[in-house]
Amino acid sequence: MQKENLIIIGSGPAGLTAAIYAARANLSPLVIVGNQTGGQIAITSEVENFPGFDSILGPDLTDKMKAQAEKFGARFEFDEVTEAKFAAGQPLYLKTYGAEYEARAVIVASGASARRLGIPGEAEHVGKGVSYCATCDGFFFKGKDVLVVGGGDSALQEGIFLTKFANRVRVVHRRDELRAGETLKDRAKKNDKMQFVFDTVLDTIEGPGKVQAVQARNVKTNQVEKWATDGVFVFVGHFPNTDLFKGQLAMDGQNFLLVDKYMQTSVSGVFAAGEVMDPIYKQAVSSAGQGCQAAISAERYLEALPEPA
Ligand code: NAP
Repeated sequence: MQKENLIIIGSGPAGLTAAIYAARANLSPLVIVGNQTGGQIAITSEVENFPGFDSILGPDLTDKMKAQAEKFGARFEFDEVTEAKFAAGQPLYLKTYGAEYEARAVIVASGASARRLGIPGEAEHVGKGVSYCATCDGFFFKGKDVLVVGGGDSALQEGIFLTKFANRVRVVHRRDELRAGETLKDRAKKNDKMQFVFDTVLDTIEGPGKVQAVQARNVKTNQVEKWATDGVFVFVGHFPNTDLFKGQLAMDGQNFLLVDKYMQTSVSGVFAAGEVMDPIYKQAVSSAGQGCQAAISAERYLEALPEPA
């Protein structure tokens, strides 16, 4: 059993900022990275709203934050948490694929995962034309036709990125009004390769083998059309990664962790930051801010906690 002062679960902007602050407070935090270093930002194309950077690629922002945390003494374990036992209080127990830990404090920054459409043909075509990551898979669609499902910032930002490769990017949105912010809306509308199809949902994604077509339904007229296409990129929001904590940490109706104003969850010594607890703002910079708050609270909590016998 490895004993740790502070374990940070997750390595997105929340986890990495918590690591910078905790390391600077000499807590020697251990970051359990999760299945993807950097979380969602690491698979984002350009980030243009992180203060201090006009424009930076998501993976580069991740590398900079991680290097900064390492410089101050944060340690990184490329592993995933498979079990957490918090209910009994101190010490807090965590298990990963490779080790078991007892921690005096934990910051949960396990982020959120891309929501699926849940329609026939989606699951079997993942990696065969269905994707949730334009930066990962865009290259495979050089000269092709793709659909982007969703009307938020992700759909437009990643759709614009896809125009670097695809000949045509059709954004399919279930309403007649985009949710995305004005800057991205303007940029997308000015892009010759982008088209918009409103009031429309996909009913099925069809092969054979790889994606060849979809059945698209107009939700106002109920008219269904078959469209030929090579790819379907889905950006319909995220759900918080909280499965591990069900029954142990209090959550809201959508399974986001509930925290008090000190970022403390329902268990003493367990703090949370980023999209795992934030159903509203979900920005890299707000997650980073929450990571900072959680680390400062964890430091104060540890200062007041009696030394282990
Ligand atoms: P989002 O804002 O929640 O948008 C999800 C979109 O998917 C919405 O347009 C929604 O439609 C649609 N949708 C949801 N379920 C659907 C379904 N079952 N079928 C079809 N469409 C469905 O998610 P996001 O775009 O990933 O953004 C998440 C957060 O990150 C936001 O706060 C966003 O501002 C932020 N973000 C910011 C930037 C940036 O600033 N550059 C870039 C990316 C993300 P409705 O509109 O009808 O609900």
